Amino acid sequence: MHLTLDLAGQARFGPDTEWIYQLDYRVDPKRVEQFYAAIKAYYPALEKDCLQPAYSGIRPKVVGPGDAAGDFIIQGCQAHGVPGLVTLYGIESPGLTASLAIGDYVLDLLAREKS
Ligand SMILES: Cc1cc2nc3c(=O)[nH]c(=O)nc-3n(C[C@H](O)[C@H](O)[C@H](O)COP(=O)(O)OP(=O)(O)OC[C@H]3O[C@@H](n4cnc5c(N)ncnc54)[C@H](O)[C@@H]3O)c2cc1C
Repeated sequence: MHLTLDLAGQARFGPDTEWIYQLDYRVDPKRVEQFYAAIKAYYPALEKDCLQPAYSGIRPKVVGPGDAAGDFIIQGCQAHGVPGLVTLYGIESPGLTASLAIGDYVLDLLAREKS
């Protein structure tokens, strides 16, 4: 369970993952049990009442529940037939670390289109 200190100095734990099939940003308050158990492992003094839902978001995935983590999918004109368009799917962790290499790869795809 990640811990992040936000710019206001608050501790944010998570995120966890919940598979959904329709857009729904509500947080089930019962999920506090899983958070509490995980956080207690390294923060034993934590009181359960201190935890409250903070944020939720939709993370698109290229694999389904139970599947192994998927690789990045980067497609240029050769894959989809649209010149000048590069699509990037499933840029999950370590997408940020890989961003410069991904940028180089995208530039290369576009350059190959022109040659
Ligand atoms: C909890 C967590 C921890 C992570 N830790 C790491 C790490 O330690 N190291 C690492 O390398 N990577 C990490 N990652 C992965 C990294 O954050 C992503 O790979 C990276 O942010 C992907 O960048 P992106 O620009 O493709 O997408 P995003 O950063 O998701 O940017 C997409 C943007 O598009 C906007 N958007 C979406 N839909 C629309 C729309 N219809 N119209 C307009 N705007 C829209 C979104 O609001 C967002 O600002 C982590 C991710 C998570 C969730």
